[in-house]
Amino acid sequence: MAVPNWKSGLQEIADGVFAYINAQPRAAICNSGIIIGDDGVMVIDGLMVGSMVRPYLEQIRKVTSKPIRYVVNTHHHIDHSFGNQFYLPAEVLGHRACREIMLAKGVDQEDLEKRFPMYKEDWPKVRLTPPSVTYEDKMVVHLGGRVVELLHPGAAHTYGDTLIYMPKEKVLFTGDIAFQYLTPLAADGHISHWIRVEESIIKYLDATTIVPGHGPVGDKTALVLTLGYLKLLKRTSRLHFRRGASVDDAARAMRLGEYADWEEPERVLRNMARAFQEFRGELPKPLRTRFDKGLHVAPR
Ligand SMILES: [Zn+2]
Repeated sequence: MAVPNWKSGLQEIADGVFAYINAQPRAAICNSGIIIGDDGVMVIDGLMVGSMVRPYLEQIRKVTSKPIRYVVNTHHHIDHSFGNQFYLPAEVLGHRACREIMLAKGVDQEDLEKRFPMYKEDWPKVRLTPPSVTYEDKMVVHLGGRVVELLHPGAAHTYGDTLIYMPKEKVLFTGDIAFQYLTPLAADGHISHWIRVEESIIKYLDATTIVPGHGPVGDKTALVLTLGYLKLLKRTSRLHFRRGASVDDAARAMRLGEYADWEEPERVLRNMARAFQEFRGELPKPLRTRFDKGLHVAPR
């Protein structure tokens, strides 16, 4: 599948709801979004470092002068959560496990400088700011008359994922539960449960506009594509695991097909290693939440 070009920047996807899309230089840095309520703004994923957040805040100020009251983290990964500190005194919201994982991992300056040397000025300024308000499987935030649901579907991309769903607008911010044109990363997740979660969202959630964690704004196609990759990964990894192959050999044997052109195809190695861990029974059991049965969305 040819990977198209798409635009960076703030895009209105429903009245007062914007996606902030990162396409440049690549899709490796996550998308963000804002929801403008009656008397305040919710930011979804606060980006990674000050030098990214400052231009973002300028963009936000072009569309609203209302105060930022909430920042939601879709999960703990640093491109989604290390910018939290720049929105204070906004309240940071996230799943309980997102907070726990952030606190356990902390800030590893050496690792950050190694992985992202281009932000070396930013790293010493990072102050870990995990969610200060957490929830278990569902939380509803009322931004005046506007309803925003935070849904935890159980383990998927990580063990602390949050979907941000606006039932009236039929808008869904998936965080990294959906990727488009960047290879899905499963190294901190649970592949089998992630597959179930994708199927539940596709089946039960009435959403027409989807903002994936990485890639352009779209519709449920982003979920279908991520699901396709995960199923391919699981099928190939299980086959090779049963034959007693190594992770390296299994990764080399995976025919990426339409995903070969997606950025960072080499993620298959880490994904395959995670699949093997799952098959060996080494991963924590994923919580089965009400989400599995679609009970988050019906009846209203
Ligand atoms: Zn992630």
